Amino acid sequence: MQGQMINSQLTITEIMRHAERVNSGTEVVSITHDNPIHRYTLKEAFKRVRQLANALQDLGIKQGDRVATLAWNDYRHLELYYAVSCSGAVLHTVNPRLFPEQIEYIVNHAEDSVVFFDPFFLPLIEQLKEKLPTVTRFIALTDSQHLPTNNIEDLTDYETLIQDKSSQFTWPDIKEDQASSLCYTSGTTGNPKGVLYSHRSTVLHSMGSALPDAFSLSLDETVMPIVPMFHVNGWGLAYSAPMTGTKLVLPGPKMADGETLTHLINEEGVTMTAGVPVIWLTLLEHLKKTDTQVPSLNRIVVGGSACPELLIAEFDELFNVSVHHAWGMTEMSPLGTFNQLTPSIKAQGQAQQMATKLKQGRIVFGVDIRIEDWEGNELDWTGNQFGSVKVRGPWVASGYYKQGEQLDSNGYFDTGDVASIDKNGYMMITDRSKDVIKSGGEWISSIELENIAVGHPDVKEAAVIGVSDPKWGERPLLIVVTHQVEVTQQELLGYFDGKVAKFCIPDAVVFVKDLPHTATGKLSKKDLRTRFKDRTLG
Ligand code: AMP
Repeated sequence: MQGQMINSQLTITEIMRHAERVNSGTEVVSITHDNPIHRYTLKEAFKRVRQLANALQDLGIKQGDRVATLAWNDYRHLELYYAVSCSGAVLHTVNPRLFPEQIEYIVNHAEDSVVFFDPFFLPLIEQLKEKLPTVTRFIALTDSQHLPTNNIEDLTDYETLIQDKSSQFTWPDIKEDQASSLCYTSGTTGNPKGVLYSHRSTVLHSMGSALPDAFSLSLDETVMPIVPMFHVNGWGLAYSAPMTGTKLVLPGPKMADGETLTHLINEEGVTMTAGVPVIWLTLLEHLKKTDTQVPSLNRIVVGGSACPELLIAEFDELFNVSVHHAWGMTEMSPLGTFNQLTPSIKAQGQAQQMATKLKQGRIVFGVDIRIEDWEGNELDWTGNQFGSVKVRGPWVASGYYKQGEQLDSNGYFDTGDVASIDKNGYMMITDRSKDVIKSGGEWISSIELENIAVGHPDVKEAAVIGVSDPKWGERPLLIVVTHQVEVTQQELLGYFDGKVAKFCIPDAVVFVKDLPHTATGKLSKKDLRTRFKDRTLG
């Protein structure tokens, strides 16, 4: 027997409609390149979203077209989030920190038709513009007064683009399975791969992640996402905050500036903030150095990399801020687990509580996680059996853009992470089976570095692994076998200059006689990781 409920479509347009009617007074505060502090309400935001939708229509953007952004967290980017997706087009958030060749690959692979960019990235756009044949227009996210001198044909600023447009717009009917946004991840081997979110996945993720034992959003909260809006939709906060009426504070280009973040927290009454560990180490250092308290700040959500114990302990002891680990990935919209202590663990001693806080957390409703051994058997939640983390659920990708489905025979997506789950349901990531390194929240391809290293005439064989680093989470270590010649670390590292982004260049080189291999002749990274587990690069 069928249920008799209305089959309303779960779309971002519905989040927008709800937010505008019910949470119209909710504030959005931003810092932008051209404005030290911009403040408006969701009511004003969505009026401009309709003007932007008219502008997109005039630019010839049709349903399904990809519209790219290279932008920070600010109100114009927020407007693009809604205007593009609710028009039926696909918002493609591009990570401007990637190496220019990767950006060129991504924009061409996505076949973006228009690129909106922050003036901060003008040199990058000028460098790439001739190499992006599908892009017909570039728009700078600023006003006419702040439009920099440039050599881009037809470059318009955002404010001029929307200023004369009508604030009336009839939103198209969108089916919930329609694509809403696209984000490429380089957390895989080979070229970056596109994760194509749907309206439905985005709405369900917003609802699931806003729950009390996850982001816990509400009218009483003020959230400052430090996770960039070009990384998995800024963990979906650009949707879940308007949906719940949570005030948004968007720090624009100042995301790594401890002083500005402190000022925003205290001036705007930020209660919750979210980002990768390196940001919080910077903030912690600043707070300690300036002896400043952040009384409104109640909690910090840390994800993207494992959270150092020092962060959890010092924020708690010195600033009365609780730090919560969250885990997920681009392919999971991103949220999969969130660390909240159960009442029985709260009743335990400090040491046991800390041991639990260091884990990646408990599964959020909406995601199904199983841990498998190498033969595909599901492992029990004992806390001491480690295996591959497989996931499924309505906000988990079934494959990559233009690549078809990539699920296992049980319909699960392999995350490439290795973990255990304890009897209380806390997952702990212990290793990674995917051959990539994560440094300060950004991916580094070990294979790309190995390919460059073996291009050096004195290198016979090379391996790159991630070794743990207190600030960046992981940093690349290059391990080489050389021909019968003397070559220095400095010379080898210098060889990477200009071939990869600076942050990707290994920190150190280890010279060895030979490298371990598996039975099939592949480099055994597992052996190398074990051997260099305690290696520090400092
Ligand atoms: P991304 O798709 O760039 O967000 O990266 C996702 C990957 O980052 C995961 O598959 C993990 O390898 C890693 N990751 C994310 N969150 C955490 C965390 N809390 N602790 C450890 N690793 C994490």
